[in-house]
Amino acid sequence: MAKYVWFDGKLVTIDQAQVPITTHAIHYGTSVFEGVRAYWNPNNLYIFRIDEHLRRFRNSGAYYSMSLNFSNEELKEAMVQLCRKNGVREHCYIRPFYFIGQYGINLHVTADAPTHAAMCVFSFSDLFDKNGISACITSWRKFSSASTPTQAKMGGNYLNSIIATIEAKNRGFDEAIFLDLEGHVSESPGENIFIIKDSRLLTPPVGSSALKGITRDTILEMAKDTGYDASVQTIDKQDLYAADEVFLCGTAAEITPVTGIDGEKIGTGRPGPVTQRIMDAYDDAANGRNMRYSRWLTEVY
Ligand code: PMP
Repeated sequence: MAKYVWFDGKLVTIDQAQVPITTHAIHYGTSVFEGVRAYWNPNNLYIFRIDEHLRRFRNSGAYYSMSLNFSNEELKEAMVQLCRKNGVREHCYIRPFYFIGQYGINLHVTADAPTHAAMCVFSFSDLFDKNGISACITSWRKFSSASTPTQAKMGGNYLNSIIATIEAKNRGFDEAIFLDLEGHVSESPGENIFIIKDSRLLTPPVGSSALKGITRDTILEMAKDTGYDASVQTIDKQDLYAADEVFLCGTAAEITPVTGIDGEKIGTGRPGPVTQRIMDAYDDAANGRNMRYSRWLTEVY
């Protein structure tokens, strides 16, 4: 973790950013977070798709009437200053978050509930092995928007992801894949999912269970630009097993090939050619090597 964090409008050391144990978010999961990546290439640090992340950041809390006391412009500037203050000159992960502070045991959250906003940054390379991972279909189902808003990136929502990850690891797999309550393929604990069949990319609709991932959106756009047919379509468990290729995608995972599911090989059991092509295209876009996507990059220095 880098030495300086941003806390309620100020750059301070981690030790100076303290909250009391009575903080509402610790008790009830009333925190909103984002995961943002910045990529260092020879002479600058580029924050990837900051505007989309900040839009989702604000929208997540709005479901719960939570106030975010800074404008998106202020948050963008804070993120740039945080990277500069820490002198970040490598690929990194930026974690903005805001949460309800001292609010007793009150479950009636309103815009008056006091919130704190913070950001930290740490160096980060690969979350998963880019040569391919194993996954299992978890016995836990992805919760649905009939119970709680699935598009809110809230602390409390991630317990579903945590329990599925524990199960996957205990069963010896690298990652879990959720089905939704109707039994269709939904997503992974921190990633969306794509399958490739006959050179077509398919990803499930995000309607009522999966998060509307920014990487998913990036891939849908880039795949079309690269000449592939990419569409949103309901995917069933049988489609997963029969896919030529499968990959997971997210800000932290980037594009991670899944080469086996429930012990069955996917395709050849190695990252497939379409996945490889999309991985390369994503890498070029995020690292500022394809000017077609320069609108997605924010320069830090
Ligand atoms: N689904 C879940 C549950 C996630 O936590 C994430 C990570 N934010 C994603 C999908 C991928 O979203 P993004 O591409 O915006 O990082």
